[in-house]
Amino acid sequence: MISLKSKKPLIISGPCSAETQEQLTDTCIALAKTGTVDVLRAGIWKPRTKPGSFEGVGEDALKWFAQIKKDTGLPIATEVANAKHVELALKHGVDILWIGARTTVNPFSVQEIADAIKGSNVPVLVKNPMNPDIDLWQGALERLLAVGINDVGMIHRGFSSYGATQFRNSPQWHIAIEMRRRMQGMPMICDPSHICGNREWLQQISQKSADLSYDGLIIESHINPCDAWSDASQQVTPSALADLVRSIVWRDEKNNSPEYVQALDNLRGQIDLLDGELLDILSKRMSVAGKIGEVKRDNNVAILQSNRWGDILESLTSKADKLELSKDFLVRILDNIHVESINIQNNIMNKK
Ligand code: PEP
Ligand code: MN
Repeated sequence: MISLKSKKPLIISGPCSAETQEQLTDTCIALAKTGTVDVLRAGIWKPRTKPGSFEGVGEDALKWFAQIKKDTGLPIATEVANAKHVELALKHGVDILWIGARTTVNPFSVQEIADAIKGSNVPVLVKNPMNPDIDLWQGALERLLAVGINDVGMIHRGFSSYGATQFRNSPQWHIAIEMRRRMQGMPMICDPSHICGNREWLQQISQKSADLSYDGLIIESHINPCDAWSDASQQVTPSALADLVRSIVWRDEKNNSPEYVQALDNLRGQIDLLDGELLDILSKRMSVAGKIGEVKRDNNVAILQSNRWGDILESLTSKADKLELSKDFLVRILDNIHVESINIQNNIMNKK
């Protein structure tokens, strides 16, 4: 019985969708032969944005998948979106279930799935919801834990947004990092395929997740990616998948050598001091902003003079290069400081 913690990194790969017995078998056998894959994946029921697209083969594909499990000796994983899917997947010996991004958003569905899985010891992975709602993601995990499903993990597949964006689903790494803080010890797998939406960036996103100490990867692979019936532009051939997996450098999370520990302690001490100074300065700045609020209030002047703000932003960000800070970062920080100053002044002006 596979556990999500049985290996780090856990590498899951297979086609977005099981299409035909030949396509599924050829893809999975080729992946197994590379020796770089721990678990095979395939979508049996596909949640499609619009009707009329290929919606998956259903139970027949589970029979093909079960045969492949026997032939390769590798565990198999699929997405479940309702109780019937759970029942069929377990009946055909699926080893790992995952809840897709469109299902995680719906507490009714997640509860139905949790109740259907209850009592079996199958591992379950929960993809982040489509929208960047961290509590919804946590809530889905808690629904599984609450019915006694213990082998639970997370899949970070990015978050959708309106219009054309660089990534198919923006990674918003900070959300996954916060989830790992909240769910201490729970494995986090990266799904670069659905983050990128293309083949070109898979390596870069996978490496970034390894650098953030993720516990594994789930990457789509297809024997003939360009002809795939779903997600053609992001799938890679089994041999490209193997090259990709071999190229990722997984670093240790810890190192007990005294030199390392000493060097890190020293630098962290400096960071702690600087963080303290940053907070002191912010506190002083906000206190001055409050005094400005009083002066403006007493003289009946509005809070925002946008040309003054424009001048500050311009003058400070022009120093970015010299300070070796990115201009984007400076703008974000200064914007936040400015918004807080406005809030403080607003409170002072409107205090009854
Ligand atoms: C998938 O893994 O094929 C899938 C449908 O993913 P997501 O739920 O992340 O869109
Ligand atoms: Mn897909």
